[in-house]
Amino acid sequence: MTADFSPFALEAPNQSPPFVDRNFFDEDLPLRESTARAGVDAAAEGLSAFGAEYGAAEQIEAGRLANENPPKLRVVDSRGNRIDAVEFHPAYHALMARSMKAGLHCSIWDQAGAARAPRGHAARAARLYIATQTEAGHICPLTMTNASLAALRAAPDLARAWLPKITGRTYDPSLKPWWEKSAVTLGMGMTEPQGGTDVRANTSVATPIEGGYEIKGAKWFMSAPMCDAFLVLAQAPGGLTTFLLPRFRPDGARNAIFFRRLKDKLGNRSNASSEVEFVGAFAERVGEEGQGVKTILEMVQLTRLDCAISSAGLMRFALAQAAHHASWRRVFQRRLIDQPLMRAVLADLALEVEGATALALRLARAFDRAGEDAGEAAYARLVTPAAKYLICKSAPHLIYEAMECLGGNGYVEEWPLARAYREAPVNAIWEGSGNVMALDVMRAVSRSPDGAAAVIAKLGEACALDPKALGLDVAPAALQERHARRFCERLARLAAAASLAEGQAGLNEAYAAARLRGEGPRQYGASELAGAEDKLIERILPSAA
Ligand SMILES: Cc1cc2nc3c(=O)[nH]c(=O)nc-3n(C[C@H](O)[C@H](O)[C@H](O)COP(=O)(O)OP(=O)(O)OC[C@H]3O[C@@H](n4cnc5c(N)ncnc54)[C@H](O)[C@@H]3O)c2cc1C
Repeated sequence: MTADFSPFALEAPNQSPPFVDRNFFDEDLPLRESTARAGVDAAAEGLSAFGAEYGAAEQIEAGRLANENPPKLRVVDSRGNRIDAVEFHPAYHALMARSMKAGLHCSIWDQAGAARAPRGHAARAARLYIATQTEAGHICPLTMTNASLAALRAAPDLARAWLPKITGRTYDPSLKPWWEKSAVTLGMGMTEPQGGTDVRANTSVATPIEGGYEIKGAKWFMSAPMCDAFLVLAQAPGGLTTFLLPRFRPDGARNAIFFRRLKDKLGNRSNASSEVEFVGAFAERVGEEGQGVKTILEMVQLTRLDCAISSAGLMRFALAQAAHHASWRRVFQRRLIDQPLMRAVLADLALEVEGATALALRLARAFDRAGEDAGEAAYARLVTPAAKYLICKSAPHLIYEAMECLGGNGYVEEWPLARAYREAPVNAIWEGSGNVMALDVMRAVSRSPDGAAAVIAKLGEACALDPKALGLDVAPAALQERHARRFCERLARLAAAASLAEGQAGLNEAYAAARLRGEGPRQYGASELAGAEDKLIERILPSAA
């Protein structure tokens, strides 16, 4: 053996090139079609340019850096003064600046008018779906800020004052009073140590003072703690109430917000999630005393929509990585993408992503039309928890299977799927965990059985399926809490099939065969795809097939 022998060649053989400098909109046929069906003018919205920007190598590198250099809590400065500040890597700030310039934190309010009726959910959904693929952690403050105005509308004076700052597009990460900033971000604090789902058990106390309230209490999770204000729940004399709690008091002094620590999380590492204490912090009431849950739910409905869209985006990202790798990697002298069993796996994954994408954009369209169309409002009410349930829960397993398509590389941190896999479960956990979503579907059905029956019947008609045969019976005797997950999943799958039936690709048949009529849960690659396998693969990445 010579001294300069190395078993590694200068260029590694048979490896796929990095999946960078791709257009995350132009190359995504299901997204383009779903967006068009939702009535979005992609050219006017500049979605192609947006897809190129977020698929650029530089942007993807910013995502890696923001996650490998997670935020740090600085409780005190060098002299021991309390500062309660969180420091982020410059890459995180760059991501925030770009996404805020694009309006991900506010664009639905641009045309809201005096009635403050949000518009343009579907166009924003397409952007969110794309941006999540590049980096998911920074989406958290953008989602909360976008949703915050829905709750703030219950306090018209506050909404009027904050609107110009919330809709500002120039990111300003500095810690200074909100009225001095070009744009602001808002977070929310509901979860306390003793309970997140059961917010009525909140023990934080709000005492009326001149010009507002004083809040004392602790929150167990409060993400994006460098936001300029937080919507929080606390017990006022009249019961559980929503408050707007700013970082600075009206006189310009720092508000009494003290961070205890940041959570050490499985994923979502670019984003900070704090434990926090309010020690007599100033806050203003949003909505009536005692109406806290009702008020904050206006916000949560929007964040649930975002969870479904983001998880669909993450799934798309994993699928594209798998198809890209399989189109390069050769095993036994044949590309992986040409091997029959790998084709079965990729097509099955693609079918899941087709359904998730069509459903997420269809739901965004319902939000756009809910103001004028009672049927769309009923659809949004019933399908939002079901879509959040199905899509967010599907993402971790789908990403795992996509990871396996990359073999050992999929498990390695330098490759992109390890991070996506660690990120994926959080969308199912926060903003209402799985059981909570299933129970919310049951609540929507039992509160309005006729409305729910009409929505479900329409879904069945759209894809020629009998909802009752699928177990979607809304008669009170048939609704059992024990079976809420089954009902919820079936409803979401039927809604996905109905969304696919609106498309030209005719994939609703394959979806119904594999996901609704089939033998029940299976691993990817084992489904009957009603002859749609080649079509599904061709649609993943036009250049890879
Ligand atoms: C990374 C991260 C960031 C977060 N950021 C924020 C934030 O910014 N602001 C904020 O307020 N919260 C935040 N949360 C908290 C999150 O919203 C809660 O963790 C979530 O709502 C669940 O509440 P919990 O943890 O108290 O669990 P619990 O409420 O104790 O629920 C535990 C389990 O029980 C299930 N369950 C609940 N009720 C029922 C029932 N009636 N029947 C059957 N099953 C039930 C739930 O589905 C869940 O699976 C964050 C969480 C994470 C992980």
